[in-house]
Amino acid sequence: MSDEIQEIESKVGPPTVQCPNCDSMLPHELGEITCSVCSAVSRIEHKPTRESWMDEKVSCPNCPKILRVGVDERPCALRCSSCATVFKVTEKVIKVEVSCPSCERQLRIRPRPGKRSLSCPACSESFHVTF
Ligand SMILES: [Zn+2]
Ligand SMILES: [Zn+2]
Ligand SMILES: [Zn+2]
Repeated sequence: MSDEIQEIESKVGPPTVQCPNCDSMLPHELGEITCSVCSAVSRIEHKPTRESWMDEKVSCPNCPKILRVGVDERPCALRCSSCATVFKVTEKVIKVEVSCPSCERQLRIRPRPGKRSLSCPACSESFHVTF
């Protein structure tokens, strides 16, 4: 038996919020969030996200059972009521679309706060985006 905990990605993510101090994008989390650019601490709450997290249904990685998560934070641990498997429901991986300034192709990337350099797979143009 492996003791590795299986993970399921949540389908619900918090909204994008900006740091009130420096306007950088904050990590997609709720609660007390520290801005990675200016270190200001903000308290971010979003009730609809908490409610959707509470009501989210996930399927057990080990059996066909569909479970209601019933926990209003991510990541969280869950135990299947049918096969007793314990697994983890992780945060949703947020992706945003940016368009290449040269050929306008849409690139889907994981935003990280601050400045990022990208290179377009279609036309090899290098450019910067700031979140
Ligand atoms: Zn900031
Ligand atoms: Zn199960
Ligand atoms: Zn391009």
